[in-house]
Amino acid sequence: MAVSDPRSSAVTPFFDTHCHLDEGSWDDSVDEVIGRARAAGVRFMVTIGGNDGLDYARAALKRAETDPEIWASVGIHPQHATLLDDDAYEVLRELARHPKVVAIGESGLDYYYETAPRDVQQAALRRFIDLARETGKPLILHIRDAYDDCLAILESHGRGEITPLVHCFTGTLDECKRAVALGCYISIPGIVTYKKAGEIPDAAAWVPPGRLLIETDAPWLAPMPYRGRKNEPAYVTFTAEKVAALRGLSVAELADLTTRNALRFYGLPAALLGERAA
Ligand SMILES: [Zn+2]
Ligand SMILES: [Zn+2]
Repeated sequence: MAVSDPRSSAVTPFFDTHCHLDEGSWDDSVDEVIGRARAAGVRFMVTIGGNDGLDYARAALKRAETDPEIWASVGIHPQHATLLDDDAYEVLRELARHPKVVAIGESGLDYYYETAPRDVQQAALRRFIDLARETGKPLILHIRDAYDDCLAILESHGRGEITPLVHCFTGTLDECKRAVALGCYISIPGIVTYKKAGEIPDAAAWVPPGRLLIETDAPWLAPMPYRGRKNEPAYVTFTAEKVAALRGLSVAELADLTTRNALRFYGLPAALLGERAA
């Protein structure tokens, strides 16, 4: 009998639901970074095309087109919300129709840096909610120091009509509960492995099983034991270990739960799990 490969179909692979593959400036090529992810059992990734301009959205889509198990999102980060004029919106709207674009974002509200005025961030968020509704694709939210305002917008604009995700969750347990009540999925970042992780471990333990995702947000926020270094999708396994322990699950169970949730959130067929990568 052949020795079992840990990545055989008996073990569900990991899904890094949020990474920025083409903003990494890693020492190695992105292909090597992706290769290390796959070697670690991280088979699926969504690369976020949503930083400070349309070039990132285009780069993310281009990346997704090169790999059958990488998909893209398109949006503009709230810190750069001033870039969202009508022309930019139309470009993103066009990109969003592409079948490899599986989500809108990241959008949201970031009052920590506040590089864009709050009202401009809020207006951009409303437009991205509209785009999510129009395309039927889910919305990736970036929320920092802005839960009250962001959840109020979600409640009054598009509630029940879109599927939102709070990526890189760093709020309180109460904020987590309020977001879930509004239909949000919650994605737990590597910060959950830090000694000072606030209430992230409480939230990671509490999130209803059907709403839980994990992510790296690479190249930022590497989990322990790589904190301070460049993060990469391979390290989502450390976050998985921590979240599994918090929930009293094995890592394999946690991988199975979060990967199936991620496929469902991004509108991808669970049948992907039955197929092997070429
Ligand atoms: Zn973010
Ligand atoms: Zn991000």
